[in-house]
Amino acid sequence: MDFNLNEEQKLLVETIRSMGERENFKQLAMEIDAKAEFPHHLMKKFADMDLLGMTLSPEYGGGGAPAINAILAIEELAKFSPMIAAPVFESNVGAVRVIDLFGTEEQKRAIIPGVCKGELSVSVCMTEPEAGSDLTSLKTFVVEDGDDLILNGQKVFVTGGGEASHYLVYTRFGDIPGYKGIGGIIVEAGMPGFSFGKQEEFMGLRGMPSCDLIFEDVRVPKKNVVLPAGEFGKLMLTFDIERCGNAAMCLGVAGGALEEAKAYAMERRAFGRPICEFQDVQFMIVDMAMKLEAARLLVYRAACGAGQGLPSVYEASLAKCFANEMVVEVTNAAMLVFGGYGYSKDFPVERMARDAKAWRVAGGTVQMLRITLASFLFGRRFDQRPGR
Ligand SMILES: Cc1cc2nc3c(=O)[nH]c(=O)nc-3n(C[C@H](O)[C@H](O)[C@H](O)COP(=O)(O)OP(=O)(O)OC[C@H]3O[C@@H](n4cnc5c(N)ncnc54)[C@H](O)[C@@H]3O)c2cc1C
Repeated sequence: MDFNLNEEQKLLVETIRSMGERENFKQLAMEIDAKAEFPHHLMKKFADMDLLGMTLSPEYGGGGAPAINAILAIEELAKFSPMIAAPVFESNVGAVRVIDLFGTEEQKRAIIPGVCKGELSVSVCMTEPEAGSDLTSLKTFVVEDGDDLILNGQKVFVTGGGEASHYLVYTRFGDIPGYKGIGGIIVEAGMPGFSFGKQEEFMGLRGMPSCDLIFEDVRVPKKNVVLPAGEFGKLMLTFDIERCGNAAMCLGVAGGALEEAKAYAMERRAFGRPICEFQDVQFMIVDMAMKLEAARLLVYRAACGAGQGLPSVYEASLAKCFANEMVVEVTNAAMLVFGGYGYSKDFPVERMARDAKAWRVAGGTVQMLRITLASFLFGRRFDQRPGR
């Protein structure tokens, strides 16, 4: 058991940290939030730094690095803002990993090099108006028509919706019920019959594109099937890498809030002393650090266990669940350390507390993760449907 980063990983973290300070990513984070605009200009910059697709296969332009390297990069960037970390997240732990692991040669050649250059991106499209936690009830479906599939249905809350070039759509094949009928296909932006709903207005993660996708008789070539019906398990296993990335976002946001709170506590004075001299303030900061460090161990363990492949479902679920709740507690505490200024948009912890709340839902709610964890602990499945 080695708890130390290697030299390459230390350099990666240090490079990102100094870039963020040099280029004033703190200010950029405030601007992104105020204008609700995605920082597109970072795509090329991050591509040039080999941060995009660092975990993807080298044959297609990726870096071939283990998942933990991407997790470290996401965490470091998310200390400034999850929106700044988003391109690294999407290109390393997002839906493109499904294509990298299970796609055809043609799909990989068409998509992965463009993702690594920051020219293409792939969104994951699972959730529907009546199928969120209950994902295997999804209704979007395809029927065969010669060499094509005809796709109909609707997806909601798709991150990257309207902006991504490619969409990995979880769909039912024909009328096969339950999880056995679900597979994944690639739908390209601009395909006739494929349109977008209005952009979501979220309380946090402002600037993140997200919208409904509408499929009306979209003709998708069969060669766009990544995983056919019966391979729902592989789709979800790969999604556990995304869950580690989601947890890394939480480490970053919490780490950013902790740094802000510490600095403020040393500077702000009350009763003639810096507030860090009050034990209650010290204990708030200590509790924040304690929770963050515990989450970090869980997230790093899950990511290290994944190597260049997939994490353990148990470890990834545990890490995401704990980190999702930790970041809400830590950012709430940071707001308290800031007193009235913690509630003001002139200081970053208010934004961090809003961003923090997204991760408990995105990528599967903490309740659903607990159901998965209970299955591992009891050694049996607990079907959530009545009568079973
Ligand atoms: C910021 C953000 C980004 C997202 N990005 C994407 C994306 O890129 N692609 C995508 O497909 N989706 C995305 N989503 C959607 C997300 O995956 C779903 O919102 C989530 O899975 C929950 O589904 P739901 O909203 O339908 O809630 P529901 O499933 O309706 O759940 C409502 C509440 O009931 C609880 N609940 C439901 N069933 C049970 C049960 N059996 N036991 C206990 N509690 C239960 C839930 O935990 C939750 O608290 C995103 C969501 C957010 C907020």
